[in-house]
Amino acid sequence: MTETDLIDRLMKARRTLDANAQLHADVDDALDAIEDAAKEIERLTAALRYEQHQLNRIGTHGVNCWKWGPQHYECARRKIEDLEGAALVYEQHLSQKKVRDGTVLDR
Ligand SMILES: [Zn+2]
Repeated sequence: MTETDLIDRLMKARRTLDANAQLHADVDDALDAIEDAAKEIERLTAALRYEQHQLNRIGTHGVNCWKWGPQHYECARRKIEDLEGAALVYEQHLSQKKVRDGTVLDR
């Protein structure tokens, strides 16, 4: 083998190594993108499941359905908000009455 042949072979090997390194980086990028896409699919699937759960419940609500369990989570949340509002109004009335009656001067 001549010196020129040897240099040619070394340069060819170097180009192959460079190409392999690039290929490796491309594969890594592709794997990252696949991983991101999988996470997004998982997130969207969860959101869709939640939406479907919501939609499937149309017409299945009833009086005090917030007591019926996890499928009425939103109903329970609304009930809590209603009760919080009612408690606030009651508290204000009570404190005004105490001031009127003179049972409480300061709070
Ligand atoms: Zn409900």
